[in-house]
Parts: sequence; structure tokens; C-alpha cells
Amino acid sequence: MDGPSGSGKSSASRGVARALGLRYLDTGAMYRAITWWMIEQGVDLGDAATIAARSHEPVLTSGTDPDGPTIHVDGVDVGEPIRGSEVTAAVSVVAAVPEVRARLVAMQREIIGSGDIVVEGRDIGTVVAPAATVKVYLTASAEARAQRRTAELTGTTVEAQQAAMATRDTLDSTRKTDPLSMAVGAVELDTTALNLEEVIAAVLGLIKERT
Ligand code: C5P
Repeated sequence: MDGPSGSGKSSASRGVARALGLRYLDTGAMYRAITWWMIEQGVDLGDAATIAARSHEPVLTSGTDPDGPTIHVDGVDVGEPIRGSEVTAAVSVVAAVPEVRARLVAMQREIIGSGDIVVEGRDIGTVVAPAATVKVYLTASAEARAQRRTAELTGTTVEAQQAAMATRDTLDSTRKTDPLSMAVGAVELDTTALNLEEVIAAVLGLIKERT
């Protein structure tokens, strides 16, 4: 399941995994975790060569239970700090570094193994798992996406969220390596006017059709 920020990927992917008893992988959390580590280490985020050289150092561990997905870096639970504004503002820069992507894509393929998993991100249908049985590209209007994100956070406004998301989406869709784009064979699902149950039902319908 791919799509821009705030399109509803996380809630929908978790709901689908839960409904079918499948595992769930949040690849965005992995990019956020490596970004958190770079910040902790004092790495200059404008220095792509250093980010690349050090990208193999942190040990990342992803838990794939849709009822309680986890992410650890060097044994530290970073589930909360990776959602903070500092990491959110920096993650697209770190995620654009080819060495970071190569390492995380390899890890993601290892976790996916032979399948039975719902994976969400930006390049899952295009790069990580192009042979996936079902590929979904979630979208929603910029206003709806900003409103959803604002409802999850405190101390922010819809306007500020919309601007921050536009910056991140532009970086994610224009980077040279594995940009966000709709995969060949993906089904686009516009969630602007849908509630979570309707999105989950639509994806479950697609899965039923294809399997
Ligand atoms: O999904 P989430 O908003 O947590 O993703 C955070 C960031 O991680 C994205 O904005 C993007 O820069 C990066 N990302 C990526 N490829 C993925 C998943 C996330 O580049 N498969």
C-alpha cells in the first residue's frame, strides 16, 4: 500500500492486516528510525555522504503485529520520538539517500519473506515488492490529508500541516531514487470521502477478487 502522507495508509493497512490475520510492516517507521538515529548522532543532515557512510551502523528491529507494531534502534524503543516534528521535518532528506534506501529495501524484503503481510510505504509496489498480489495506491485531497494529520497531533493547524505535508510529498515524489509513484498494476483508491471502515472494506474486496 503506497501513497502520500495522510492518505490513510497506516490505519487502512493495519485494519486490513487485522481483518485477515496477516502481519503488518510500516516502512515509513524504518526511515523515521534511521533519521532519529542520525539526529541523535549529530550527523549533519545536509551531508549526504556522511549519511550514506553511516547508514549501515544502527541496528533496526521492526515488530509486525498489526495490533502493536514496534520499532527499535540499537535496542531502544523509538516508537514515540520518531513521530516528533524534528524527525518528521528531516525524514525525506535522509530517505532520499540511495545507500539508506538500499539497506532498508533489503531489510524490508527479508521481513516480507514469502508474503502474508500488508506493507505500507512509498515504493512498495514499484520497488520493494513489485510482484505483490494486490497493490493499492491511496490518495486523498490535500485538505483532507492535512485535516486528518492535524486531528492526530496537538499544537498545530491545518494550514501548517498542509504546508509541511506538501514539502515532504514534493521531496518524496521528485527524489532520484525510488520516488513515490503509482505502481504498474496498482489500484488507485481516493479516500477523501470515505471513512476508515469503507477504505478497509474496499481493500478487502480487492484482495478477495485477486486471491
Ligand atoms: O509513512 P511516513 O509518513 O511515516 O513516512 C515517513 C517518510 O519516510 C516519508 O515522507 C518518506 O520520505 C519516507 N519513506 C520512503 N519510502 C517508504 C516509506 C517512507 O521514502 N517506503
